[in-house]
Amino acid sequence: MDCVVAIDVGGTSMKGGLVARDGTILHEQRRPTPRAEGPERVIATIRAFVAELAAAGEPLAVGLAVPGLVTPERAVFAAAFGWRDVPAAAFADVDLPVALGHDVRSAGEAELAHGAGHDGGHVLFLPIGTGIAGAAVLSGTLYGGAAGWAGQIGHIPVWPDGRACGCGQRGCLGQYASASAIAARCGETSAADVVRRMQSGDPEAVLVWAEAVEALAIALATYTLIADPAVIVIGGGLSLAGEALLTPLRGRLAARLAFRAAPELRVSRLGTRAGMLGAALLGWQAVDR
Ligand SMILES: [Zn+2]
Repeated sequence: MDCVVAIDVGGTSMKGGLVARDGTILHEQRRPTPRAEGPERVIATIRAFVAELAAAGEPLAVGLAVPGLVTPERAVFAAAFGWRDVPAAAFADVDLPVALGHDVRSAGEAELAHGAGHDGGHVLFLPIGTGIAGAAVLSGTLYGGAAGWAGQIGHIPVWPDGRACGCGQRGCLGQYASASAIAARCGETSAADVVRRMQSGDPEAVLVWAEAVEALAIALATYTLIADPAVIVIGGGLSLAGEALLTPLRGRLAARLAFRAAPELRVSRLGTRAGMLGAALLGWQAVDR
């Protein structure tokens, strides 16, 4: 079956596969992102991963979803990896077209094409993992903004004098509600461990979870008042918490919206595969060019 190589390059791990045009995943692998070993090491790891996936089938193109400021031809800037102006060809040592895209917007495109966004032209996709960034769909179109920075919801200040953020500001949403922040605040390696402790009544986990929910409610109420989405779709690793997240968040979001109803809140049907399926769409666009 015709396929493309698709890799979602996350801050913690890379999710890669061979994906058919209709979104069927023919082959799937994960590997850690060696972020601490520097910019070149991450690029070399992606190159090796592309070669390995390409050898598992007969792909027609390569699609890569990466963080930061990105064009189809270049990774212009990615603070997470220390990348500046890396051409697409540097990521793949194969004789195939290579297309780059922004990780979160690509995941949003995949949600629109295959997943939970089917029924609305006014949607916010909010993957929550190592960080938090949103893909805003306004009137059926993914909105990038003037310079491609739209949707940086993780840096909305939810508590003006709150915890310091890597971006240089204080009190950013990501410092309370990203999966990595929730885990770190409880001395755990994953947010799933915090959910388990919270459900068994551990006071520290209960407090950290409640602050995460409140921070999300503040940021999502702000977004709702500006953009009036019909649906907010939570994705990424934190979405695996399911109703442990959605039930309290629905309550707090409604409480933060005084005069209007809250938008519908759901978790992503594509789950943590949305980014890889978005990378596959980039690959198929390169095939069609
Ligand atoms: Zn920040």
